[in-house]
Amino acid sequence: MNIVTAAQQEGIETGMEAQWSRVLARLRTEFDDGVFNSWFKPLALVNIEDGCAVMAAPTRFMRNWLNANYADRIGQAWAAENPAISDINFIVLSGFAAAAGASPPSEKSPARAPGRKPEPAAVARHRDTEFGAPLDPRFTFDSFVVGRSNELAYAAARRVAENKEVHFNPLFLHGGVGLGKTHLMHAIAWSNREHFPARKVVYLSAEQFMYQFVSSIRYKDTMSFKQKFRSVDLLMIDDLQFIANKQSTQEEFFHTFNALIDHRRQVVISADRSPTDMDGIEERIRSRLGWGLVADIHPTEYELRLGILQQKANKEPEVDISLSVLEFLARKITSNVRELEGALNRMIAHATLIGREVTLEMTREVLQDLLRANVRRISIDEIQRRVADYFNIRLSELLSSRRARQVARPRQVAMYLAKKLTPKSLPDIGRQFGGRDHTTVMHAVKRIDELRLADNVLEEDIQHLERILAS
Ligand code: ADP
Ligand code: MG
Repeated sequence: MNIVTAAQQEGIETGMEAQWSRVLARLRTEFDDGVFNSWFKPLALVNIEDGCAVMAAPTRFMRNWLNANYADRIGQAWAAENPAISDINFIVLSGFAAAAGASPPSEKSPARAPGRKPEPAAVARHRDTEFGAPLDPRFTFDSFVVGRSNELAYAAARRVAENKEVHFNPLFLHGGVGLGKTHLMHAIAWSNREHFPARKVVYLSAEQFMYQFVSSIRYKDTMSFKQKFRSVDLLMIDDLQFIANKQSTQEEFFHTFNALIDHRRQVVISADRSPTDMDGIEERIRSRLGWGLVADIHPTEYELRLGILQQKANKEPEVDISLSVLEFLARKITSNVRELEGALNRMIAHATLIGREVTLEMTREVLQDLLRANVRRISIDEIQRRVADYFNIRLSELLSSRRARQVARPRQVAMYLAKKLTPKSLPDIGRQFGGRDHTTVMHAVKRIDELRLADNVLEEDIQHLERILAS
């Protein structure tokens, strides 16, 4: 039985064990004690085979967490110690915990269950379409919870995933950070791999697209860059806003995009705002981006948040978290799904480490900082979007210098709400409204204060907006 824990490793300095202890030593210098003791110390090296280091974690949760958060770093530490290692894999050996000082598992827990396949996480990370980015194994349609705020985006993504026929091109997904854009794109890719394995699907971020483009220029290899992107059946580019103001990358993107669309290949794009609001992107590209289906993902509603938490909690049967804790989190953490998941993960980690049921009181204590940050944290950005939406004008108009009444009044309302609902100073607000002077903001606030008293319709508009922003 080849199990060597961090605690036992001292003294054994040969071969595999020696490498493992050096990997741990590297990790120890890179992370603080809390992280090291919680996540790395409980790990045990099981085996090295075919260039893959297999490590065991004591719980499924821990394994998932390591895969999601530390696999790359651990993989790098291994590769640095032993260049022959190109892959890592975590398995679960329940009942075994190195950090807790438990004795090594008995003969009944096999280090490698017979015929056991490596976990999909590790495979996904290392065997990808040559030039696409790796896919997160957690981001599938099955794990995506649908609610009012994301149903259109979800339905469109499903359509793209399940049909070889191109119905709308491109599919443009947009919404604030942490609302599931990347999740949906990965889900499309996973679904394609399963149902149409021959289809060439490539997912990458706009940043990676740019990087590849730039290096193809550096290595005078733009021909093969063009060829490889144009041979794709389904191209997905995430966070397109990244190429704003990057002229030549935009140009190349546009050519690729047009070539694919002309050949009826599916393109899926995501960004943090709608095509029309993509500042720093050429007009002809912006308008072309809006030709297909533009689906926005709105901020989450309570039911969706609770649904997401329940789904995640169900995946951790060994951890006991009561419904009231989930409801509490869904009510309190409204910023985005990423933070919501982060909060739940912290509670799960906590419960795993202390081995008790998670109570409401414990949650309040453990999440103090997060809860405080989520109290009325409305951003100017969000106010601007909501106000633009509400008055049916474009965000870019709201921020422009146009003085026409139908945009100037909403702009004043947005400044007014920014002053009332955020802790930002007048100069800060001015800056975020296209670099205006603080006196302009002051004037807007005063004006709206007066008008609220005189104008019933405006008063209603503002109350309505305040309600939307508070939810
Ligand atoms: P974005 O790309 O929009 O910034 P992500 O797709 O990275 O957001 O999502 C952030 C996190 O929230 C991910 O862990 C993702 O799985 C999760 N998430 C977002 N929306 C949902 C949803 N509707 N159901 C389940 N998980 C979700
Ligand atoms: Mg994303």
